[in-house]
Amino acid sequence: MLHAIDMFLTLILVAQGTGIFQPTRWRTGNRLAVEEMFRGVTKALFRASLACNVSRNVLRLPLGAGLHPVVTQLKSHFSTSSDTTRPEPQCGSTLTQIGSRRIFSFEHDQYRELCRRFYEEEVIPFHDKWEEKGEVPRELWKKAGEKGLLCVTVPEEYGGLGLDVLYSAVMWEEQSYANTSGPGWFLHSEIVAPYIMHYGTEEQKQRYLPSMVAGDKIGAIAMTEPGAGSDLAGMRTTAIKDKKTGEYVLNGSKTYITNGFLSDVVIVCAKTDPEKGAKGISLFLVDAGTPGFSKGKKLKKLGMKAQDTSELFFEDCRVPASALLGEENKGFSYLMTELPQERLLVAEMALASAEAAFEWTRAFLKERVAFGKPLTTKQTIQHRLAEMKTELTIARTFADRCLELLRDGRLDNSTASMAKYWCTDLSSKVCDECLQLHGGAGYMWEYKVAKAWADVRVARIYGGSNEIMKELIAREIVK
Ligand SMILES: Cc1cc2nc3c(=O)[nH]c(=O)nc-3n(C[C@H](O)[C@H](O)[C@H](O)COP(=O)(O)OP(=O)(O)OC[C@H]3O[C@@H](n4cnc5c(N)ncnc54)[C@H](O)[C@@H]3O)c2cc1C
Repeated sequence: MLHAIDMFLTLILVAQGTGIFQPTRWRTGNRLAVEEMFRGVTKALFRASLACNVSRNVLRLPLGAGLHPVVTQLKSHFSTSSDTTRPEPQCGSTLTQIGSRRIFSFEHDQYRELCRRFYEEEVIPFHDKWEEKGEVPRELWKKAGEKGLLCVTVPEEYGGLGLDVLYSAVMWEEQSYANTSGPGWFLHSEIVAPYIMHYGTEEQKQRYLPSMVAGDKIGAIAMTEPGAGSDLAGMRTTAIKDKKTGEYVLNGSKTYITNGFLSDVVIVCAKTDPEKGAKGISLFLVDAGTPGFSKGKKLKKLGMKAQDTSELFFEDCRVPASALLGEENKGFSYLMTELPQERLLVAEMALASAEAAFEWTRAFLKERVAFGKPLTTKQTIQHRLAEMKTELTIARTFADRCLELLRDGRLDNSTASMAKYWCTDLSSKVCDECLQLHGGAGYMWEYKVAKAWADVRVARIYGGSNEIMKELIAREIVK
């Protein structure tokens, strides 16, 4: 079957090469007919490739990465805000319904189906076991890589699919809908990989990106220290240049590092010029196993229990000059540039958790009988559901707008901070309300809502606490 798809795609490309399908050679009517045909073809290919449980390589063509101009042109026909045939999120049968948001295209929906199926088959059934272990197996990372679910925005020349960031959003939302916070893919794919893409040398990109895409190498980023979290300029870890060898010598420790225990490569923030505060911070790519670099224990947390959050230590850890990511002393400005994406990611994942929690609660209340009737017949309960759905819809509208801005490279720090602070506060409130509406069951770990409540709590703290978000928003207001 996979061969059949490959051959079919090849035929299309050959036809395009011979000029048969060059739109400019066709009168408008014919061109539209051809475009219609291609629309059908890409849909059929998508369905076929999904049905076949395809690998990343086969997905690459139907998803449109590096496609020839006709199909690329066709992609725009499916897409975005002008598509009024899509139901608004609040009008769908559920808030998690596939195909109900105007920012997404048909291909995004298909990708969402792939992600959803992956979580259902490969993650959800095993997540409880991984929570006990405090980590997910490496094989899972490789499976996700093989399916094309990691680092999807990485360009093709580095092994990725070269897709837009809305595909990334699909993947991180589905993780929240699946209620499986264990795999730190969001950080690996959408925070670590972009730093390497944006600031890495060619050698660094070739060295790390293909193996990160494949799930062979796991990435982490280490900013926070025991004595410096919100105030990053106060970090104490140093990277002092050895003038004789050109190497940097790292000393210090980091804490609360997502993927820290399993990490193969860590972006370490350290001061190359300790006198200069924020202007003396640089970033380094440090490989696991480098002498002087060690990992602490997996930290026990309130939620995200299958996520390997840990401490990292650097003791006279020597790295070559080629480990410097970007320019010396530019680290803080790189962090400021990349943080809007991280903040929207945190906002989005929290919001998706709350949307899912709302749906589980709605289903629970329809079934749960008290005083002779399902709880959904009580007006006060109906009003609480109405309030939550209204607030989630407002948040979703803003979050989707921010996603569009992110895709277009226009998401500024202050707007991302608004999304992060408001969506995570709301999500925490909604998950708490959903837990309450479950009664005693909501306090039981076996109920999804208990996990969502615990998992979502951290969203108000990490990626910059919500207090710091308000600082950043206020700074723009009063400047
Ligand atoms: C599960 C988890 C995963 C994480 N993953 C990572 C990771 O991968 N990499 C990484 O580098 N870090 C990570 N972090 C760290 C996280 O980003 C920090 O915890 C966060 O930035 C807050 O820093 P802090 O804990 O030092 O709190 P502090 O900075 O000590 O703040 C304590 C409290 O004071 C408030 N506060 C601080 N300054 C001000 C101010 N100026 N005005 C008003 N209030 C203020 C804060 O909002 C907070 O409520 C993770 C944390 C957790 C819990």
